[in-house]
Amino acid sequence: MAPIVKECDFLVIGGGSGGLACARRASGMYGVKTIAVEAKRLGGTCVNVGCVPKKVTWNAAAIAETIHEAKAYGFNVEETAPFNWPLFKTKRDAYIKRLNGIYARNLDNDKVEHIHGYATVTGKNEATVKLNDGTEATIRAKKILLAVGGHPITPQDVPGAELGTDSDGFFEIETQPKKVALVGAGYIAIEFAGMFNALGTETHLFIRHEKFLRSFDPMIQDAIVAEYERLGIKIHKLSKQNKIEKDAKTGQLSIHYEDSEGAGVLENVDSLIWAIGRAPEVKRLGLDSVGVKQDAKGQIVADEYQNTNVENIYSIGDVVGKWELTPVAIAAGRRLADRLFGGPQFVDSKLNYENIPSVVFAHPEVGSIGLTEPEAIAKYGKDDIKVYNTSFTAMYYAMMEPEDKGPTKYKLICQGPNERVVGLHILGLGSGEMLQGFGVAIKMGATKKDFDSVVAIHPTSAEELVTLK
Ligand SMILES: Cc1cc2nc3c(=O)[nH]c(=O)nc-3n(C[C@H](O)[C@H](O)[C@H](O)COP(=O)(O)OP(=O)(O)OC[C@H]3O[C@@H](n4cnc5c(N)ncnc54)[C@H](O)[C@@H]3O)c2cc1C
Repeated sequence: MAPIVKECDFLVIGGGSGGLACARRASGMYGVKTIAVEAKRLGGTCVNVGCVPKKVTWNAAAIAETIHEAKAYGFNVEETAPFNWPLFKTKRDAYIKRLNGIYARNLDNDKVEHIHGYATVTGKNEATVKLNDGTEATIRAKKILLAVGGHPITPQDVPGAELGTDSDGFFEIETQPKKVALVGAGYIAIEFAGMFNALGTETHLFIRHEKFLRSFDPMIQDAIVAEYERLGIKIHKLSKQNKIEKDAKTGQLSIHYEDSEGAGVLENVDSLIWAIGRAPEVKRLGLDSVGVKQDAKGQIVADEYQNTNVENIYSIGDVVGKWELTPVAIAAGRRLADRLFGGPQFVDSKLNYENIPSVVFAHPEVGSIGLTEPEAIAKYGKDDIKVYNTSFTAMYYAMMEPEDKGPTKYKLICQGPNERVVGLHILGLGSGEMLQGFGVAIKMGATKKDFDSVVAIHPTSAEELVTLK
């Protein structure tokens, strides 16, 4: 059979958030002949094993909480059966499958040729793709985008670590674990822990330090750790795992660990989930063949315009690793397509990585934009910043017993005589939806006076942010 050789203007390797956004803009908006190659499922991490199935699961957990809380509002809600995890998972999988189809159709609509296979860069303007049927194709392209994302890592030095799973495996769990152990202190571990707990699973969270979400403002760290403890999540602080064993009969795991209370064994664990970080997906990408520079963690080094050190090879998203979030990958991808193919008015098009809002779908949600208080002090000096704090009980909890009331805490960090807002950190019900609008204001350079000039919307929690004293 004659070898398959294809030619295009733009080859996008990786059909995830960033790659698809860039490919669609290049082809759909600017008419550039574009080929996108995806090894697994279209949509990448976010759609298949990230944001989307995670948020759907979070919704289920939020409903479980609401059912519990409904009694306080006078509803006679009886939970006659446990949460039907298998039914929920089947529906969630079907939803993701529908999305995969929608992504394929979107590519067709934008005339992006999409190929299923694994791409390896073989030259400055060339890649080979191992197609799913075992054959190979060579693609020659004027420009190449590397948008290959990352994958979860598991520890190499814990005997039996392979008995656990990772965040990808979380979405494969067929039946609800009675007892779960999560290891990690980043947002993925914290979101999973909150969801399991709300759905009624006995939840153990192993963290290496005293607190989690350690890149967030200290107010957030303190409040969310205290809230997780209040909700009954067993947090193993200052912990490490020495060995994992599996009971051949029951399939359950035992985790031999040390934590702040000494050595222990956690037995009868149905699922162990490592959420200790992610690594770039570059092992077989062929970066060496063209000399694309990587940093110490293996991440591709790209400048602010997403250029790698090799001419006509670009990179975006998690594999670059600046802000590992879907909208960041999408925005960087669209800006890059504008710059490369959009004509002279876009020569400077690039993503501004400052003031990126982000939310952790914890229980309750946490939102953050700009500098934390320690970062603001380090950048401007203590005397040049002013910090406003508030802590209150949201009206939603008015009907509940004191032990059922969750926290709400907000912090606004302002800088200079004009009190420009340089950081906003919020924790409480609705924070996820709330932060987006405030993000616009902060991106525009809002000051405390601007916040105060807005008439409050009453009764809401958000109104507290425009009435801070
Ligand atoms: C559990 C979890 C929850 C998350 N929740 C959120 C959230 O709530 N909000 C948010 O903004 N972000 C969230 N994220 C992060 C978000 O998913 C990523 O930031 C985003 O998907 C990055 O997009 P990307 O295009 O860089 O990479 P990806 O989406 O990972 O896409 C890369 C694609 O490239 C493919 N690929 C890799 N190598 C090759 C190759 N050689 N040839 C062909 N194809 C290849 C992969 O199969 C993959 O599909 C979450 C992530 C996880 C793991």
